[in-house]
Amino acid sequence: MTDAFIPLARPNITDLEVRAVTAVLQSPNLSLGPKLVEFENAFSSYCGTKHAVACSSGTAALHMLMIATGVNASSEVITTPFSFIASANCILLAGGKPVFVDVDPDSWNMDTTKIASAITTNTKAIIPVDVFGQIADYDAILPLAKQHGLRVVEDSCEALGTEFNGQCAGAFGDAGVFGFYPNKQLTTGEGGMIVTNDKALADHCRSLRNQGRDVQSGWLAHPRLGFNYRLSDINCALGIAQLERMTDIISARSQIELMYRARLTDEPRVHMQKIRDGIDMSWFVFVIRLDDRYNQNDRDRILMALTESGIGCSNYFAPIHLQPFYVAQFGYKPGDFPVCEALAARTIALPFHHELTENDVDRICTSLQSRL
Ligand SMILES: *Cc1c(COP(=O)(O)O)cnc(C)c1O
Repeated sequence: MTDAFIPLARPNITDLEVRAVTAVLQSPNLSLGPKLVEFENAFSSYCGTKHAVACSSGTAALHMLMIATGVNASSEVITTPFSFIASANCILLAGGKPVFVDVDPDSWNMDTTKIASAITTNTKAIIPVDVFGQIADYDAILPLAKQHGLRVVEDSCEALGTEFNGQCAGAFGDAGVFGFYPNKQLTTGEGGMIVTNDKALADHCRSLRNQGRDVQSGWLAHPRLGFNYRLSDINCALGIAQLERMTDIISARSQIELMYRARLTDEPRVHMQKIRDGIDMSWFVFVIRLDDRYNQNDRDRILMALTESGIGCSNYFAPIHLQPFYVAQFGYKPGDFPVCEALAARTIALPFHHELTENDVDRICTSLQSRL
């Protein structure tokens, strides 16, 4: 008999969510209704920001913020190549040029010592990414941004609930972005959110998500070019219920992270992301980095063997600058961002969700170690 398959991720949905969604379906307001306002208000108070603007995805949120912060064809925007592709694609979608800064080998976030030399007279903004839930080093980023007049858009899609010295992810820069795909800490099926203290930025994004309408303009009045990036009340009701359960969700995930850490901490062939002092993590995934004695082929072989033994796993991330359309448009090549590439060649995301038991974690780690 073979062991049951352990999925890489799975959403945590209870009766509370089912009841909340059903109630909306029995109401007359499936979109632009009361659940949208309620979700935004609950979310901004959770993050400690003045405004929250819900939208259809994290990618949509990033795209709108690029436009709302004035990124256009003459702009450069600094970001990290070790991220999900949306954090750089949003710059391309707004017509701007992504400028990558390599990552720190320990925190896996943008190496802040390399930002200054990437700034030019065309630089408009920085998009730091809170990789795997770890808040980027804003103590270093914010003074640089201020000095050069740059906007800061936090890609906090993986960090909902993480705090640095008591301040929530998303609340450090001009605006922060969250995504609610089913593998995230909070899911709405699909969805996203912008948080900000800047009313003008929030109003601009509210208009962009709703076909360029202004709050006071009629259904067929469109003062600016916009999108349909709205989030339905069905999704919002799901989000409200998930947000009510956030404390439990975060602590359940954190228990599982502790099990992995205890199991792998003395394993010299495997390294973990280093979490900076002052950070209280909300864990998004559990990603390990194989030691330098292994190469990408070794990693891929291990991924295959784990999958065959019924363990959901994945490489995470692939360097953005080496995706075909970045290579074609900007001429990037292997070696351009060596720290990112060395890391991306050796990472393995292990199963990470609330249903994992101590036995599962033990089976996963034993299986991993037997293949090293
Ligand atoms: C999930 C994620 C996004 C947004 O994803 P959507 O699927 O568009 O909601 C953006 N950046 C990062 C780093 C992410 O992990």
